[in-house]
Amino acid sequence: MSDQQNLFAALRAAFPADLDAVAIETADGPGAPLRYTWRDLERATAMIANLLVSLELPAGGEHPPRIAVQTEKSVEALLLYLAVLRAGYVYLPLNTAYQQGEIEYFLGNAEPSVVVCSGKNFGWVSKIAFQAGTKHVFTLNDDRTGSLLERAAWQSDVHEPARCAAGDLAAILYTSGTTGRSKGAMLTHGNLLSNALTLKDYWGWTEGDVLLHVLPIFHVHGLFVASHGALLNGSKMIWFAKFDPRAVVERLPEATVFMGVPTLYVRLLGEPGFGREACRSMRLFIAGSAPLLIDTFDEFRTRTGHTILERYGMSETIMLTSNPYRAEDGERRGGTVGRPLPGVGLRVSDDQGRPCPSGEIGGIEVRGPNVFIGYWRMPEKTREEFTADGWFKTGDVGKVDADGVVTIVGRSKDLIITGGYNVYPAEVEGYLNEMDGVAESAVIGVPHPDFGEGVVAVVVPRAGARPEPAALVGALKTKIANFKVPKQLFVVDTLPRNAMGKVQKNLLREQHKGLFGA
Ligand code: AMP
Repeated sequence: MSDQQNLFAALRAAFPADLDAVAIETADGPGAPLRYTWRDLERATAMIANLLVSLELPAGGEHPPRIAVQTEKSVEALLLYLAVLRAGYVYLPLNTAYQQGEIEYFLGNAEPSVVVCSGKNFGWVSKIAFQAGTKHVFTLNDDRTGSLLERAAWQSDVHEPARCAAGDLAAILYTSGTTGRSKGAMLTHGNLLSNALTLKDYWGWTEGDVLLHVLPIFHVHGLFVASHGALLNGSKMIWFAKFDPRAVVERLPEATVFMGVPTLYVRLLGEPGFGREACRSMRLFIAGSAPLLIDTFDEFRTRTGHTILERYGMSETIMLTSNPYRAEDGERRGGTVGRPLPGVGLRVSDDQGRPCPSGEIGGIEVRGPNVFIGYWRMPEKTREEFTADGWFKTGDVGKVDADGVVTIVGRSKDLIITGGYNVYPAEVEGYLNEMDGVAESAVIGVPHPDFGEGVVAVVVPRAGARPEPAALVGALKTKIANFKVPKQLFVVDTLPRNAMGKVQKNLLREQHKGLFGA
């Protein structure tokens, strides 16, 4: 029926006629290669959806029940995502690196009806979940074991996708908060589907495409951009749970599309065997989530003959801009993120909210059917991040040239991006400042040859205290995800400050810029 806007229903409608063709083939992990046909996807998602429906989750509130998931990457984890959509519930993926303090906040804030975690974490995750009022905690391991699949095995493999409107909530993606509190970006079926349809056309997805899927699936890039792209095109995925550059180079000749964060491209270029021959069947290499260095862009072209297509987006908006795919739309320009995608409005404003002339730097604001509906249970924050005329303030600083091409020059919110992951300094500083012997701290990102940016902390001790850098780093490791933990920590007497008392992070960045030899 035409008013059905359930994203799963749209993806399923794109499955190929031959349901016995291979949809996903694992390249690593237990039992690889495992082959999942389109029929397997159809049946397994029905069974998991039926299990979720059988729990008779209380509606509670204006949005459907949330299903929070922190598991290793596996095909079954993707099936769980699809099943949640199918059942009309809200998917809430959590980074596998998140530790206790973080999970406590997410589950307390989102109040999920169901939590799915790795078996090895069941002890502590279930404790937190039950405290947050969650009634159902299942396990899902990367070797197809765990209570989720055991229970789903008893369910019927027939399920009619829940009826959803375009504005119905489909997923909540938590972005780290600048003040230390994470915000849950609420994305609807319509947000996700409209963006997926735009990208299918813009990136020229075509019959016979095969996607090499190497990204994590708790983030917009791997979960939405990559997976939706392949599913909506009825394309096979070669599925890597972990990125291993050598193994990827070996499998590239079977693929046509690859998506990666810049760090992955640097790693590929580090493989001696990587070049034109390995890329002979490839149609498109796409990069995003963090700035791609010009050096990487150039070296990749020289080595492979392929020009990486860089695009720009974020959890709140999915994809916003892209370099062109088709030659008639212009060349792909390194160091830029291309033009706004069809249907996306993008403008640059100064700090008074006035439009900047082309070429001038200001805050990037966007609107379109892809833009999220707000932050979960943070109406104030949501209001702050939208302009009076309804544009979302991305927090990125950039410019639009006369020919409409967008360049990102920085981030107003001081975000650090390391290996494609976002680290908000305020959050790490909050943990440091609570530690014994610490008076205050400043966390910055400085150039890193492998990760783009490396996290560095500068700490001022309390009078008379002498905190050990290694001990502070060790203590942080028990509290926050490893990618947020500073790679270097310095203890100093004072932090540089301006006349307004603000810490001058630019001076710290300058002082430490050569730290990692980038
Ligand atoms: P996330 O919500 O984790 O996807 O992070 C989104 C942020 O990543 C954006 O607001 C940008 O600051 C940054 N980002 C994404 N793609 C690019 C890109 N191609 N170049 C520069 N920064 C990017």
